[in-house]
Amino acid sequence: MAASNSDDRLADRLRGIPGTIFSEMSALAVRTGALNMGQGFPDRDGPESVVESAVEALRTGRNQYAPGIGVPELRSAIAAHQQRHYGITLDPDSQVLVTTGATEGIAAALLALVDPGDEVVVLEPFYDSYTAMIQMAGGVRRPVTLRAPDFRLDVDELRGAVSDRTRLILLNSPHNPTGTVLTRSELESVADVAREHDLVVLTDEVYEHLVYDDHEHVPLATLPGMFERTVSISSAGKTFSFTGWKIGWATGPRELVHAVESAKQWLTFCSGSPLQPAIAHALNHEAGYYDGLARELEKKRDRLCEGLGVLDVDVFKPQGTYFVTTDVRRYGYRDGLEFCLALPERAGVVAIPSQAFYDDAEEGRHKVRWAFCKEEDVIEEGIRRLAAAELGA
Ligand code: PMP
Ligand code: GLN
Repeated sequence: MAASNSDDRLADRLRGIPGTIFSEMSALAVRTGALNMGQGFPDRDGPESVVESAVEALRTGRNQYAPGIGVPELRSAIAAHQQRHYGITLDPDSQVLVTTGATEGIAAALLALVDPGDEVVVLEPFYDSYTAMIQMAGGVRRPVTLRAPDFRLDVDELRGAVSDRTRLILLNSPHNPTGTVLTRSELESVADVAREHDLVVLTDEVYEHLVYDDHEHVPLATLPGMFERTVSISSAGKTFSFTGWKIGWATGPRELVHAVESAKQWLTFCSGSPLQPAIAHALNHEAGYYDGLARELEKKRDRLCEGLGVLDVDVFKPQGTYFVTTDVRRYGYRDGLEFCLALPERAGVVAIPSQAFYDDAEEGRHKVRWAFCKEEDVIEEGIRRLAAAELGA
């Protein structure tokens, strides 16, 4: 387990931060042999050509430190990707930084841009590393809650959360865990607030390509006047189904990327050398992979929503990401954690209690997150087990 309150030696910056729920629930799945429909990792790896490219890099001497900012071919491929998809023009030498997953990009950005006592306005439910890293940077989180059933951004709430002490807005769209994809008009409101208060926005876009129906991912940096104040974070983990490779990137204006780099150089110095040319290959040659993945995931989303729908739960259909949220209060549990802890024994399935992502206990208490980035037969078996189980408290 990670840090706990009872450890007297623990530095204040880590005090009170619980261990990550993803490790806890995946360990539960391993311990009980239950199907893991919790942690968001696919059970099929990404393109073979990308693996081959990594093998070639391993065999051809790409095994020593990479430049801290990332190998040139990956930085160029990231810049080309931003140009191709969004019309964002980047100088690969000064406006692109390779990081050890999005996780390190977010950590480095918060360490670089937030001083102790600064407030960070952040969408709730939060991806769990945000709360940990805001605290480690000495910042104070100011949640803006996406509320069921629609999980839309309440612009008044956003305006109300900003104060003289606000330093940064941390945005995530497509949003984990709700699956909300912020609309252009919601993003315009965020941009208005950022410009009015002269704020930097850190955008986590790791699910940029996993968007369904006619929803569209709009990078905040493409809105007028926003490139200059936005650090955009993404990662190969979800886009190419290589979550264990931990290759991510931060892009934006030179000064902000330089600030993130200033912190990143002391965290890891550089990210995994042989994996970087392989992700360059992926970005340059495997765009078809993520389009196909999104189409497959859309069908899996529909199947899982349908399967969960026949249980007595409210199902909130996501617009993006690979997670679906349900409200399980009808089963009589006091909370979703209790439900999730009973689930392996009752149904042989593991899911994530969303309360780990909330400050607002009422809003989060009964919500449970299910991942549909799993093989079809795993999803079918999960649905079958849930339908056959006695789920009541
Ligand atoms: N942000 C969000 C919203 C995530 O769901 C994840 C998990 N992929 C991350 C960041 C971390 O990404 P990475 O694995 O690239 O560090
Ligand atoms: N992003 C993944 C999820 O939301 C988990 C990543 C992790 O375990 N840190 O499930």
